[in-house]
Amino acid sequence: MKESSIRPTIRRSIRVTRRAVQVGTFLAFVLIPLLNNYDMRALTGNMVAFNAAGVPLADPLAMLQAAVGSFSVTAVMITGAGLVLLAAALLGPAFCGWLCPFGLLSELVQCLRNKKSGVSGSAKSSGAVFFRPVLLKSGLVAAGLLLILTALPLPVLTQLSMPAWITRFWQHAILLREILWPALWLVPAVLLAEFVLGGRFWCRYLCPQSLLISLAGLAGLALPKRLQVRFTPKACNCPASDRACLAACSLNLNPRKPVAAQMAQCVNCGDCVEACKKRGRALGFKFSAKD
Ligand code: SF4
Ligand code: SF4
Repeated sequence: MKESSIRPTIRRSIRVTRRAVQVGTFLAFVLIPLLNNYDMRALTGNMVAFNAAGVPLADPLAMLQAAVGSFSVTAVMITGAGLVLLAAALLGPAFCGWLCPFGLLSELVQCLRNKKSGVSGSAKSSGAVFFRPVLLKSGLVAAGLLLILTALPLPVLTQLSMPAWITRFWQHAILLREILWPALWLVPAVLLAEFVLGGRFWCRYLCPQSLLISLAGLAGLALPKRLQVRFTPKACNCPASDRACLAACSLNLNPRKPVAAQMAQCVNCGDCVEACKKRGRALGFKFSAKD
């Protein structure tokens, strides 16, 4: 088979696969409570705490809040959060790019915004990062933990978890026959703010849930194996005024600069890799810390 005939399939594959995984995950959290309703309980839970056939998985930040609030930890908390952090260390914060239901909605809003404003990649990325998202999220998480320690021993930061609201909404609606009203106004309000402000504002600067998985992903860069985008400068053939990878990244990152600050935020969505396949093929995924 000629290379030209297989390239279109390759070009489409990452985006199509990712969208299928995102939509499938979204639908799974509707289907799971439906199955639970009929006593099929191999999978239970939501994006705060989940159980897959006896294997616990948990939002690390929710577990940290529970530990701080109760001054205690359980084996389930350590295992659930530990497995998620281990996955993040090996794959980076791929949860955001591949699984989070709010991430899917946020990307769709960003696509809509880009279409409406006709923004180009270079124009989009020229509004450089004025403050470091990881530091901002760290401040928010530190304030939340301080509040739990001093005044409000409740998981206050989970109230800011969009994936938790979305997945808990279906659980409450199907299993408890009640409407989780905050999910109905808070999630659309945040999406509206993202549409107005652009740059996937919530996910980049405020979502506290993404902080620990981003930090685990950053720590994972020290491992011998870790999924990451690699840039080969000599293959890059885009002019400076028209970088396809910049246009493709909904998080306004520059995949050509694989510095730690960017790699902590890169969700390994592969949009830049796919865009680059139409140009110099200078970007690709590698499961290795070494070139
Ligand atoms: S930043 Fe938060 S809301 Fe956005 S995709 Fe990641 S976990 Fe989801
Ligand atoms: S740099 Fe590439 S892989 Fe990372 S978030 Fe941006 S588009 Fe996705």
